[in-house]
Amino acid sequence: MTNQGHSKKTKTELEAELSELRREVEFLRARASSAMVGISPAFTETLHSLQVHQEELRAQNEELRQAQESVERVSLRYRDLFEYSPAGIFIIDENHAVLDANIAAMGLLGRTKNRVAGKPFLLFVDKGQRGELDNHFLRVRSSGRATTELLLTPDQHPPVPVILESVRLGDGWGGGWRCLTTAIDITERKRMEIALRESEMRLRAIFEQSPLAIQILDAKAVPLMSNRSWLRLWGPGSDKLGPDGRHPVLRRIGAEDLLAIGLSSAGHEIPATHAVPDGEDQDERWVHGYVYPIRASGQAVSELVLVHEDITERKRIELALAERSEMLRRQYENLRVLGEIAALPPSEASQRLPEALGLGRRHLGLFLGMVSRVEGSRFTVEHHSAAMEVGAIADGTVFDLPTTYCALVMDSEDVIAISHMARSPFATHPAYANHGLESYIGVPIRVRGRVYGTLSFSSTTPHPRAFDDGDKEFIRLLARWVGAVMEEDAVRRDLAQSNAELEQFAYVASHDLRQPLRQVSSYVSLLKRRYGDKLGEDAREFISFAHEGAVRMDRLIVDLLEFSRIGRDAKPLGPVPLTEVVRLAMANLGTTITESNGVVKVDGHLPMVKGDAQDLVRLFQNLIGNALKYSRPASPPVVTIAAGSGPMTHLVTVADNGIGIAPDYFDTIFGVFKRLHTPDKYEGTGIGLAICKKVMDRHHGRIWVSSLPGEGSTFHLEFPAAQ
Ligand code: ADP
Repeated sequence: MTNQGHSKKTKTELEAELSELRREVEFLRARASSAMVGISPAFTETLHSLQVHQEELRAQNEELRQAQESVERVSLRYRDLFEYSPAGIFIIDENHAVLDANIAAMGLLGRTKNRVAGKPFLLFVDKGQRGELDNHFLRVRSSGRATTELLLTPDQHPPVPVILESVRLGDGWGGGWRCLTTAIDITERKRMEIALRESEMRLRAIFEQSPLAIQILDAKAVPLMSNRSWLRLWGPGSDKLGPDGRHPVLRRIGAEDLLAIGLSSAGHEIPATHAVPDGEDQDERWVHGYVYPIRASGQAVSELVLVHEDITERKRIELALAERSEMLRRQYENLRVLGEIAALPPSEASQRLPEALGLGRRHLGLFLGMVSRVEGSRFTVEHHSAAMEVGAIADGTVFDLPTTYCALVMDSEDVIAISHMARSPFATHPAYANHGLESYIGVPIRVRGRVYGTLSFSSTTPHPRAFDDGDKEFIRLLARWVGAVMEEDAVRRDLAQSNAELEQFAYVASHDLRQPLRQVSSYVSLLKRRYGDKLGEDAREFISFAHEGAVRMDRLIVDLLEFSRIGRDAKPLGPVPLTEVVRLAMANLGTTITESNGVVKVDGHLPMVKGDAQDLVRLFQNLIGNALKYSRPASPPVVTIAAGSGPMTHLVTVADNGIGIAPDYFDTIFGVFKRLHTPDKYEGTGIGLAICKKVMDRHHGRIWVSSLPGEGSTFHLEFPAAQ
């Protein structure tokens, strides 16, 4: 508590005043004791005021003590703040020596206070940076503060990067220049900075070296950065907006909406896109890529990354591959259709060719197919197949060759293929004006080495694609097949004619020969009857030879007649049960079987075949007859007839236990007059097996023999299974 009248005094002043007052009181006490007697009221009053004053002083004293305590507490707190501050704090004097340093500062230097205090600060700074430190303090002197990044060199420890921040202190810090320097350890920040720099370098290397074309754009689609691959892919100028203010690449690939997508999505794949050339120095390209938004802070997209992969090469290979496989597919189809044509039943050209033309026409996707004969300037349609019959085209129609496209084929002697007439150099050809055919493919047909005519396919509409090598090869092969069919037809016709003539000749010859033979034979008989007893032994023997000769000759002629008769009547083949056939053949051979002491047995059931019963009886009669005839003297003949079936055939065997046949003759015995024995040993004309072969041929079957000489022979007959 202070009196209103008293102004506040300092502690020392108060203390001085107090001791002054004490001295005064002591003096007064001494005076009082010496003059005890008459204490005046004035004295009493003075004493009282003194007491009041003393009380005041005591109160003031107490106040001072408290103030002192508070100052000490504050001072201690500041000291603590200084000492325990996490930043290193130095007080530096005018010589740049350390006056004081807190705990963190000593920690940074790795030294105790007595090794720091009084030492120049530069002792604790990396040698190479002492100049910077001098600058730092110079700046403090000139402008009152300075901040510098430095390396401190703690004892026994690696250097510590710090931010040194110094401020000049006021005069209250004692005489001379002082500054407060804080040092903050930035090891962690430095490490992060390095890591960040490294990571940025890595990213930059990836960005620059990436084979992917990468561009970074701002949210308004303005290119910010483009890597080398980008410039390589899209060319100069692709790293900035075009003069029209549009993104040049996105405009070129028609993908400007990508930016909006990129801005609104988490990332978007750009499917394979075809970039057509946009200028002279540009190539066609295929790209595939992504667009990603970059959200630097919060949700707003700050940048976009556009990534393009150049897939032109891959796409080209893919397209080439697709083209190849399409070609292969067409080649396969060509072969399939040619196979189908080749497999047409071997009928006459007039049946096969229109069918083949139909298959070819459908395969090529054209309206009309024609086989034409060309003689001079005459062009005759021989066979045709049309998607829809048109009056102007019929087999036998004749055109003037120069008015047809086939004239071009005849000139070139090779394939002529025009897929779109109006756009071809042949648009002015009279055939176009005459027939209006828009697509045409034609080739010459050669028969027996000579150009016979043309094979052609055509349509009134353009062909959907250009005819390729596969189409040309297809029509070439088809023309060869057509030529072969026509040749075959001609050969067949020639052969049938010569066969008919031959058969006619054989029939007439054998028939007519029998007459004079019968005459010879009857006159020889007459001679024998009338003059037999008048003639000598020799003459009778001669007559008998002549008779035998005539009989053999007659048998020969009968056999030949029989041979030539097979198939002459050309009755259609019908179902014939072979069991019945064999029964009839055996009945015809009744006496022969009995005389030979032979046995003929049928093993199991015989099949039904499509055939001519009479011819088949003759076939089995010959085979069984031979089996009985060519027996071994000591063993009576045993003939076994058996049957088996394959998937498409009936197989019948006629086996005997006779003399057998040497393998060298397995084929020859089926020829006319081919015999392995003289008539005196085994009777015969050598025509029997030739008849058998002819019968089997007529039945579209086969006959062959297997045998072990001396043990027996087996004749095999193969009939096609009845349809
Ligand atoms: P041939 O009138 O001579 O019997 P073929 O044409 O029937 O005339 O037979 C031709 C030849 O085949 C016969 O001369 C004979 O040598 C031989 N041959 C035919 N069948 C048999 C058989 N079953 N065993 C042995 N040889 C046979």
